[in-house]
Amino acid sequence: LDTKTILASVKTMVTGDLDDCACDVETIDAFNNNKLFPQLQTLLESDYFRFYKVNLNKACPFWATSSHCGLRDCAVKPCSPNEVPEGVRASHHNKYSAASNEPQQPDCEQEDQLGAVNVSLSNETREALLNWNRHDDEAERFCVVDDEESPDSQYVDLLLNPERFTGYRGADAWQIWNSIYEENCFKPLAVKRPLLPNVLHSSSGNDAKIFHSWLEGQCVEKRAFYRLISGLHASINIHLSARYLLDDTWFQKKWGHNVPEFQKRFDAELTAGEGPKRLRNLYFLYLIELRALAKALPFFQRSSFRLYTGRAQEDRKHKEMMLDILQLARSFPLHFDETSLFAGDEKEAAKLKEDIRLAFLNISRIMDCVGCFKCRLWGKLQTQGLGTALKILFSGRQIEALPPPGAQPPAFQLSRQEIVSLFNAFGRISTSIRELQNFRELLAEEP
Ligand SMILES: Cc1cc2nc3c(=O)[nH]c(=O)nc-3n(C[C@H](O)[C@H](O)[C@H](O)COP(=O)(O)OP(=O)(O)OC[C@H]3O[C@@H](n4cnc5c(N)ncnc54)[C@H](O)[C@@H]3O)c2cc1C
Repeated sequence: LDTKTILASVKTMVTGDLDDCACDVETIDAFNNNKLFPQLQTLLESDYFRFYKVNLNKACPFWATSSHCGLRDCAVKPCSPNEVPEGVRASHHNKYSAASNEPQQPDCEQEDQLGAVNVSLSNETREALLNWNRHDDEAERFCVVDDEESPDSQYVDLLLNPERFTGYRGADAWQIWNSIYEENCFKPLAVKRPLLPNVLHSSSGNDAKIFHSWLEGQCVEKRAFYRLISGLHASINIHLSARYLLDDTWFQKKWGHNVPEFQKRFDAELTAGEGPKRLRNLYFLYLIELRALAKALPFFQRSSFRLYTGRAQEDRKHKEMMLDILQLARSFPLHFDETSLFAGDEKEAAKLKEDIRLAFLNISRIMDCVGCFKCRLWGKLQTQGLGTALKILFSGRQIEALPPPGAQPPAFQLSRQEIVSLFNAFGRISTSIRELQNFRELLAEEP
């Protein structure tokens, strides 16, 4: 490493071991940036994963909101019906992953003969789908799921509505983050969060010390919860710095890396040490979602599971690609050990788990209060993805005991919406880790 690189990484970056798990930043960087990230990007471009059904018109259940429709870059363009593959639309009526779970699939050859798109469902399949619709896992969910049947729910093409700088900021954005941290992260009001720029003043510096020693004193579950939220917040702020509106004239818009914006948020000196802590939380979030993907492998490996879009050949190819990624996730050597969570006294652990589940549910409701539609879209998707990851992590036993295909409907299920959000949410975190490398390189180039 040359001096410039060392300086840059010391000033703004995070290195070394991560707290609460047996892993280090460098191992994750190498694994993600060289192996997982490129494969995942390709998968997320496929039709199954790019179309997400979401209700962006739900009213905020907590306070009166003003919409930021006025901000041009907050707009979300929903798909017109003919833009969404017929197979995806046809399978949305079932709550659980579509004809994908058909007990008896037509054989491949027959499917191919049916032409490129086969959206017809057999009676048997319909019966099975009805059963799965009846399956209700409300009590295991960490996230509110939008009603896909609501006329307000629409498909959005995620590739055409990328997460990036929108200009959403100020009191509104602060109210959302504040409500998330203050009302849902188990923190007593008397303990102040290290807010920027206040943290740079000496009295607030003391607040920061008190905050971090309070956090260290929390049980591992509550600390993990805070770190997941903070990691998500860091990821969103990395994205807006990496895809910033650099030039906005009548004939062109240029998006790209805004290094000073990134430094303002994450540089160790400029943030009195808070930035690197937030980046560590991002790595922690990465480990949790990676672990959930690895654990879900048996669910997706079932021969009856399909990434159903109606194009049999493509669906098969994408399923293989998906399984390769999940195998890769499994091969990661330093996984987070979720058995360290909720491992104490059985009764207390159950209560703690329920408190955390309810707090997370509440955070997913707060997403309907985000005034910028683009931020709301990605906020909803990412909380749903993380909620799905948590659901998987705490359903380990059910996933391992999945009945053979064709038997009664399994106790563990994932809907298409949950699957799409799980992979896309992880895609965001994986991109953020990759973007850190880009920023590192850009900083090294600076005089
Ligand atoms: C759900 C949601 C999605 C959003 N999506 C986008 C988007 O796609 N594009 C876009 O341009 N803007 C988006 N925003 C806005 C963006 O996150 C910021 O709120 C905005 O840029 C203003 O930033 P800020 O510097 O004032 O501090 P904010 O990021 O608003 O932070 C508020 C306070 O929390 C502290 N804080 C910051 N990061 C962390 C962290 N990781 N952990 C703990 N505390 C922290 C800060 O020090 C500050 O005191 C979104 C906001 C929300 C609530």
